[in-house]
Formats: sequence, C-alpha cells, structure tokens
Amino acid sequence: MPELPEVETVARTLYPLVHNAVLESAKILRPSSLHAASIPPDSLCGCRIGTVRRRGKLLLLELDAANAHNAAVRGMPDLVLAVHLRMTGRLTVRSGQEQPGPHTRCVFALRTPNGAAAQLFFDDIRAFGVVLAATPAILQQWSFWRELGPEPLDLDENGFAACLAGRKGALKAALLDQRVIAGIGNIYADESLFAARLDPRRRADTLTAKQRGGLLRSLKAVLWQSIAQCGSSIRDYRDANGNVGAFQNSFAVYGRGGLPCRICGRPLGKIRVAGRGTVFCPRCQK
Ligand SMILES: [Zn+2]
Repeated sequence: MPELPEVETVARTLYPLVHNAVLESAKILRPSSLHAASIPPDSLCGCRIGTVRRRGKLLLLELDAANAHNAAVRGMPDLVLAVHLRMTGRLTVRSGQEQPGPHTRCVFALRTPNGAAAQLFFDDIRAFGVVLAATPAILQQWSFWRELGPEPLDLDENGFAACLAGRKGALKAALLDQRVIAGIGNIYADESLFAARLDPRRRADTLTAKQRGGLLRSLKAVLWQSIAQCGSSIRDYRDANGNVGAFQNSFAVYGRGGLPCRICGRPLGKIRVAGRGTVFCPRCQK
C-alpha cells in the first residue's frame, strides 16, 4: 500500500503533468470508486488544476472553480479532488486517445495549457481506492479526513509526545493508526522502530523522552530517505510517470524476516503486531 513517501512522490511527479490543465469531462467507470459524499465529477468541467499535494496517504488536487461550467460549482473556494490510492490505486496521465484498461475506474479528460488533449486515469486493480470531489465542508463530513492525525514530518517532540500520551496499546499500533499520526503504514513503522531500536510491542506510553525523541528522528529520517528515493516499490506502486521507487533496496527489516539483522547479525524475528506482519530484531529492539 502506498504510504506517505509514495503518495508524496505521486504528488510531486503528477504536478508538472496536470498543473494548469482544465478538466473537460469526467467518467466514473466503477461507481463504488467514487466516494458517496462526492460532488458529481462531471460538474467539475471547466475547473483548472492548481497545486497537487498530500495529506497523510491522501492525494489532493486543488481546483480553481472560477470558470467551472456548472453554475453551482463556479467560484466554489478551496475545491479539491481527493484521491485515496489505498492498496493498488494509481494515477497516470495518458494521451487524449488512449482507451481505459480493465482496471481503469475513473477517467478525467484534460486540456493542457498548450492546448493538447490528455487524460488522467485512476486505475485500481483491487478497487479499494476512492475519488472524492469536495469542498472543505464535505471533507469535514468524512471521518477519515476529520480524524486524521498530524503530519509526522511537521511534528516536534512535544507534538509527538501528545500523540503517544495515554496510549496503552503496542507502539507499532499507535504508529499505524491514522488518527494518531498520518501517513505511516507497515513499511515505515517497522523501519523506523528498527532505526530507533524500539520493540514494536512496547506499550506506546512507556517511552522515555529520550526514546520518543529518537523514534521521531528515526521516523523523519526514514520518510525523508524514502522520499529522496521516490518511495518503495514492492508489488504495484508506481509514480505518476509509471516509474518505480528505490527505497525497497534500503530496507533494514521490512520483508527480511529470518535474514540476518544488519546490526547484530542474528536472524530477524517475524511476529504479528496490530494484526500486521512485523519484522524486528529481538536482540537490538527493546
Ligand atoms: Zn539485531
């Protein structure tokens, strides 16, 4: 599943392809790939795409509705097209002629600033992903959005302490909970816990200030390293240009159960924590 670094990479690679393009039509090929609270996507025709950004694992295309054809949408401030990639969602920009594939769920026809026709495809093999055209008020109705925790790359030690305070569950469960902290999934939870030498089963509210500071630094370092390498590609993830990331080559623990620990050389353990496969070093992580 794409996590923070992968979604950040998609946002960065999608931006130059769609910035200032105008939406000309929208086709939803699989109705359940559209969030139930969404503004009807065809009412977005005439909207211009501004910035492409990320919040947690959610991709946000900002829309300028000044010239929307639909009178109700025209001039709506802070309109966004939000895309949750979930397991296998992928956004790519194709030529104006290309036909949708078997897993294409939504197609947005675009007119680029130089007048060329293009298409934004949302493909999703497993079909858990969703697209949502929304105002800030509509986003607030979405519990996933409303409850989303802080961005880890913006957190300071006090903020991180507040995230973990009173959490009696496993440390890894807290990191994975999008309401506690946004954007972390299985890969970056395991990698950051190894880097900080903390046991994923450790009760989240028992960390010393020093350990918490170390975990926050490790988490940020792992996320920044992965962003610098365009994310991790294990299975389906590709950026908006269809390219793979490279951070999977730097994994210390994820997918390495039974292989030697990079610190002590003993075999890494594989257990389940928070219902997820978890790889860690029983000797190095306390
Ligand atoms: Zn070890």
